[in-house]
Amino acid sequence: MNPRILIVEDEGPLVTLLRYNLEREGFVVSEASDGEEALLRAAEDHPDLILLDWMLPLLSGIEVCRRLRRQPESATVPIIMLTARGEEGDKVRGLDYGADDYMTKPFSPAELIARIRALLRRARPELAAEQLDFADLTMDLAAHRVRRDGREIHLGPTEFRLLHYLLQHPGRVFSREQLLDAVWGRDVYVEARTVDVHIRRLRKALNGDGEADLIRTVRAAGYALDRPAEVQNARAR
Ligand code: CA
Repeated sequence: MNPRILIVEDEGPLVTLLRYNLEREGFVVSEASDGEEALLRAAEDHPDLILLDWMLPLLSGIEVCRRLRRQPESATVPIIMLTARGEEGDKVRGLDYGADDYMTKPFSPAELIARIRALLRRARPELAAEQLDFADLTMDLAAHRVRRDGREIHLGPTEFRLLHYLLQHPGRVFSREQLLDAVWGRDVYVEARTVDVHIRRLRKALNGDGEADLIRTVRAAGYALDRPAEVQNARAR
């Protein structure tokens, strides 16, 4: 799953520039052009990081920052404040209200991306990781390869994304709807049972002869990636 970045900025050309550079680096971008919309988008899109302009219509960046920090679901999301020259004195206040970093306009997109990556590495190491391991499974993100016990596993793009998501949250049970949102995206209409089809394909690809099933089906709840022992215990119960 590529990291999601919410751009909160009312200067159209800057939004276009940021979107272009972020998408080129593989980030998934959403945008808001005023403070009210920023709070709405943050609640709906669950961004992994927020770029927040200081001077915004309706609600200032600082007020948005304060309110985001008060909501449990956005209390820890990394925030980079974007300030104009002359507003530097306000940076300190921005940091007081819970921003993690700030950039003064104009800034270089390359430097912004370096700071974004640094914050994501700190806040969500799994998003910056090049390789994910679980039991005898290894996912190499750079090479786009999956191995189980050294054997190469070939996955379709959807199964790859599904496994990537599960690998980021081992042991956690996800409903079909949660998996749809995370893997297919919120804007795509797909039936919940499509998830079952792809889970079946993923299982078939992952589980060789005599190998334990790493995916646990939780009746009426969804699916989880689990250690074989836990899977077996769950079955025995
Ligand atoms: Ca502005």
